[in-house]
Order: sequence, then C-alpha cells, then structure tokens
Amino acid sequence: MRLLIISDIHSNLEALEACLDAAPAYDLMVNLGDVVGYGASPNQTIARVRQLGRVHVRGNHDKACSGVTTVDGFNPIAAWAARWTYAALTPENRDWLRALPAGPLAVPGLTHVQFVHGSPLDEDDYLIGLTDALQALLGIPAPVTFFGHSHVQGGFSLHRERGSEIHPPIELGNGAGHGELRLQPRGHYLINPGSVGQPRDGDWRPGFALYDSGARTVHFHRVPYDVERAMKRIHEAALPERLATRLLLGR
Ligand code: ZN
Repeated sequence: MRLLIISDIHSNLEALEACLDAAPAYDLMVNLGDVVGYGASPNQTIARVRQLGRVHVRGNHDKACSGVTTVDGFNPIAAWAARWTYAALTPENRDWLRALPAGPLAVPGLTHVQFVHGSPLDEDDYLIGLTDALQALLGIPAPVTFFGHSHVQGGFSLHRERGSEIHPPIELGNGAGHGELRLQPRGHYLINPGSVGQPRDGDWRPGFALYDSGARTVHFHRVPYDVERAMKRIHEAALPERLATRLLLGR
C-alpha cells in the first residue's frame, strides 16, 4: 500500500495544493493533524483535506481553533491566530475539527504502522531530540510511527540497539527536492513527513512523504509553492506579520 502522509498544513492552501500537484500516485492519504491555525485559508484548506480521505489525526491547533481546548499554553501569536481561526471557521468546519480523533490511529491492513500528531505517548508532546524519541521508541510496540507537530522533516530510528536521527538527503534550494529512506527489517522508526504549511527546519519548501509498505521505503519530498500568495492572504486577514515572514525562512 502506498500512503501519502501530510501534516501541519496550518491553513496554507497554496502549500497544500503544491504538495498535491507534486505527489506521486498513492492509495490512501493520512493527515497527521494541525489542518488549521497560523494561515489565512482555514475553510478552503479543510474543504480540500476532506476531499482527500478519511484518515485524520487531530492536532493541538485543531483542538484550540475549534474550542476543544483553550489557547492556554499557546504563545501570543499562536493564540491570536487560533482566535482568528475560530471566528473565521464555518460552524460545519468547526464541528468537523471538534470530531477529529486523537492519535494513535491505525489503518486497516497495516498492522505495523501507527499515526500520531505529537508523540505516541502523548498527542501534545514534541519529539525534538533523540533522548525523547528513544523513550517513545522503546515504549511502543508498533515498528513504524508517523508523527508531526515539530514541523521538522525526518525523524528517529532504533536499529540494533542504536538510536539515530533521520535527516532526509535533500539539498536546500528553490526547486523540488526528494530523498529516500529504506526501513531496516528489525528497525523501529519515528518518521515526520515534514510540515506542509509552516516548515521549521530551515527549508521554506512544503514537505510531505510517501510511504510504500510493500517496498518498505519512505520518500521525503520538498516542493516550491506560491509563498507570496500565502503571505498576501495573511496580510489581508490582518494576522500577525511574523506568520507571513516566517514562511520565507522556514523557521
Ligand atoms: Zn503544527
């Protein structure tokens, strides 16, 4: 089975469309959460994501922007964007976000893989360093977990009792980039497809991944998009300027 895995779209419709245009053929789409928050196109983004499939994990912004949780713990800019999003959402889309399930989720027919937003141990935890990741890798039975939340493409592996960080071999640039990871038979993996709508790994290009369960490969992708248009929408919505400028930096 070939899975298109996307995460952290954050209401960036232009980035989402660029990823979908560039995505190779796939059987099923899995969304790891944070469809909304930060960007200026929440309703259009939800409409597009809903067309793509039924496997969606909720993210912390999905919860805060629909009233499942408050914005306590959000920084002032994130809280501003969450309040703006809540007001901008149609009642139907707000209800859709509210009903999203917490991870880990599984997909029928793929018993060795699970999908979460933050960490397999807690949906809101960040997996940033190898130490945190190893705790999660040792604490879960599923050999492969796809996660988002950190907006950093790559992840972590545990193989032959050795923990490692995964950095996709993709060079910085303004064109499309692609890198492959082959999963070892007895390895355990935490894999982040990257953020579609607000990358924070120093690369401004939206990221996504394609997982082929038969070939046991993960293909990481970066694609250019119309970032000026996404920034213009943020300006027009009078959202904080930083939410526009950070898109150029990938930070
Ligand atoms: Zn996010």
